[in-house]
Amino acid sequence: MSSVSPIQIPRRLPLLLTNEGVLLPGSTMRTSVDSARNLQLVRSRLLKGTSLQSTILGVIPNTPDPASDAQDLPPLHRIGTAALAVQVVGSNWPKPHYTLLITGLCRFQIVQVLKEKPYPVAEVEQLDRLEEFPNTCKTREELGELSEQFYKYAVQLVEMLDMSVPAVAKLRRLLDSLPREALPDILTSIIRTSNKEKLQILDAVSLEERFKMTIPLLVRQIEGLKLLQKTRKHKQDDDKRVIAIRPIRRITHIPGALEDDDEDEDNDDIVMLERKIRTSSMPEQAHKVCVKEIKRLKKMPQSMPEYALTRNYLELMVELPWNKSTTDRLDIRAARILLDNDHYAMEKLKKRVLEYLAVRQLKNNLKGPILCFVGPPGVGKTSVGRSVAKTLGREFHRIALGGVCDQSDIRGHRRTYVGSMPGRIINGLKTVGVNNPVFLLDEVDKLGKSLQGDPAAALLEVLDPEQNHNFTDHYLNVAFDLSQVLFIATANTTATIPPALLDRMEIIQVPGYTQEEKIEIAHRHLIPKQLEQHGLTPQQIQIPQVTTLDIITRYTREAGVRSLDRKFGAICRAVAVKVAEGQHKEAKLDHSDVAEGEGFWLQGLSNIFLSSNWKYRDQQKGGLIGCREHILEDAKPESISDTPPDLALPPEMPILIDFHALKDILGPPMYEMEVSERLSQPGVAIGLAWTPLGGEIMFVEASRMDGEGQLTLTGQLGDVMKESAHLAISWLRSNAKKYHLTNASGSFDLLDNTDIHLHFPAGAVTKDGPSAGVTIVTCLASLFSGRLVRSDVAMTGEITLRGLVLPVGGIKDKALAAHRAGLKRVIIPQRNEKDLEEIPGNVRQDLSFVTASCLDEVLNAAFDGGFTVNTRPGLLNSKL
Ligand code: ADP
Repeated sequence: MSSVSPIQIPRRLPLLLTNEGVLLPGSTMRTSVDSARNLQLVRSRLLKGTSLQSTILGVIPNTPDPASDAQDLPPLHRIGTAALAVQVVGSNWPKPHYTLLITGLCRFQIVQVLKEKPYPVAEVEQLDRLEEFPNTCKTREELGELSEQFYKYAVQLVEMLDMSVPAVAKLRRLLDSLPREALPDILTSIIRTSNKEKLQILDAVSLEERFKMTIPLLVRQIEGLKLLQKTRKHKQDDDKRVIAIRPIRRITHIPGALEDDDEDEDNDDIVMLERKIRTSSMPEQAHKVCVKEIKRLKKMPQSMPEYALTRNYLELMVELPWNKSTTDRLDIRAARILLDNDHYAMEKLKKRVLEYLAVRQLKNNLKGPILCFVGPPGVGKTSVGRSVAKTLGREFHRIALGGVCDQSDIRGHRRTYVGSMPGRIINGLKTVGVNNPVFLLDEVDKLGKSLQGDPAAALLEVLDPEQNHNFTDHYLNVAFDLSQVLFIATANTTATIPPALLDRMEIIQVPGYTQEEKIEIAHRHLIPKQLEQHGLTPQQIQIPQVTTLDIITRYTREAGVRSLDRKFGAICRAVAVKVAEGQHKEAKLDHSDVAEGEGFWLQGLSNIFLSSNWKYRDQQKGGLIGCREHILEDAKPESISDTPPDLALPPEMPILIDFHALKDILGPPMYEMEVSERLSQPGVAIGLAWTPLGGEIMFVEASRMDGEGQLTLTGQLGDVMKESAHLAISWLRSNAKKYHLTNASGSFDLLDNTDIHLHFPAGAVTKDGPSAGVTIVTCLASLFSGRLVRSDVAMTGEITLRGLVLPVGGIKDKALAAHRAGLKRVIIPQRNEKDLEEIPGNVRQDLSFVTASCLDEVLNAAFDGGFTVNTRPGLLNSKL
């Protein structure tokens, strides 16, 4: 084709520099484009025009394109192939990248490079032209012989292959229909040859030379095929097809022929893969599938996209731990010690986990329930899961399910899809390499649903002990036994877990921590862990308990300890900088007068060290950097702090983190106690809400204005909450006389000429649920009576139209929230009295719980001196 090509290529060609393969005239190749010059070329020559056909490129092989166009053009290979781009595929993300499908037309030679930027353009001379071949009789004859010989070998090679394969039959037909001159190029690109060999063929401009060079390559291929056929003869005849176009191993060593390690490696890989399949302990069904696939793989040319797919599949199959497991070491006493060592508090959770493990010890049967830890973030759910794996001596793997809305995330894609992958379960098994790990299914409550199916339904199959012994991932398409895997799920709330899934799990509530528990956790676990992570020692940094309490109350507001942990991280980083700086400074203070013992770090002492020096520096430098100096200097004894500190001196160790240092590192406190301020007007009451993130206190505000008796509700409320508000108003209206509640004009009809507005901050957070009922009543009672609600009381409870108070959930979390906020009295429904047992002793001591069965009792407990009528009638008018 090339030599008889009637194509006349332009005299100037844009050059595409390639380094991967060698494009020969008459063959087609895919090449990726990601360097600056090549990208420019594709953009301006291929993507801008209307038709790809209109541009002929000069493909220069074996020439790496420099990464940036600022660099000089490397020396170009002398001969290239003029090519047509047949297809351009590409994307701009994450970085620009194109793949070109190019077909070679004819050889050319660079005469002169005309320009280098933005992409090289060269003046070229076309090399493959019919009339250019020598015309004398002798050469023609010689060439005739050569070409005849070449043709013979080519036919022999093709006939050794299986003609029933359509590609082989087509090749046979091509041999006859193509001009002989085109055959060397075409066959070289089809048979197994290395890049260097192809390059030599490209450089062989004379046809005679080209024939001469290609014949040994053909012979080599034929010999390889022969040997292969011999070795396979005793096997099924069928294997003839397997030989495909390339030999499995190079047999003859042709002088001048170059070694091609890559391809040998590929073949080795397949042999290895086959061996692995044979020796692997996979079940029979899986084994059968693998054998079938590897047969298919051998028949496929490597360039076929399916080749890589099948190979990946087989690699996964042999890597999967079909029969590999770890041995459980179950010692309940050791487990208890380990759980206690790793986690402070959370008694209920630890107890249940130990029970679970004990049952496993007695009966080695995993068909038990799946444990699901439910609680706010940062309370240690994941970390307990990890400890369980540790106690059992099993591998641990976490699967984050938050936001997963495609069932193929769990169950994999069918292999027919492009980019198909196994699901997360099978992937996890491959990662851990054993079939009995502990899988932590994190955030099961945040599974989504979409058009791609319901991942929760797919999880059912995984979690159901009756079904999971033959879980079939779509990608694997054979069953895998999951019954040895120990699944533990975590969630923030059970409300959004699909009921069918919930049914398969045993819920263990993990409530938030009290301040005291947090302090203990911080000092036993979080601080030592952070110090270790930052390479610090207790001799270098000290964080007293008061500081921890300060961080808990003023820098974090959470049920768990995650932000607290992060704050310690921030402190450690700040200190680490100072310590590292100090290590480089040669001048060291005499430490002899600084006590190293713990007594030195008493909080009292640290306050003494907060000398004027601190403030002086604060004004001088300000900001975090300046402040860090203070933290460090702060640890010095008084005598040192009197003199202006020398920044060149290394910091005194250990560095004490006290209130001022805290402010410098973490900034001003984020949360202040605002409760009493906000309750300084009538029409405000504090409710207690439960959220997936733990308990929260919630202010309810009401105001009234002239109007037509309308009720406005703001703060993103759900339907149930809106109904509670209507109920509250109705109850107050019907009891207005009893409590002597009046509107602005003194009428007992509260809505007469009056509009009411109720607001629930924070406005951006959606709220719903019936438990705000009592708070709304109290807030409105305060508004219409003009009396202030006690500033230290919070409440929760559902109401009925007749004024009864019904029980609600989440009492423990709500009580902890009230305690965190520094409140003193909590009003709860009487029927929730039993929940008080769960509340930690110290919280119960600090809070006084009032149980109420009707709204009368709520109001009496919420207002100073009770809320009965007519006791202080004068007060009403004076406040209004
Ligand atoms: P969750 O999974 O509940 O969101 P994590 O398990 O990730 O929370 O816990 C966050 C961090 O808090 C972890 O570093 C964990 O070790 C620590 N932590 C939480 N609770 C405790 C506890 N009771 N004792 C010790 N460390 C804890």
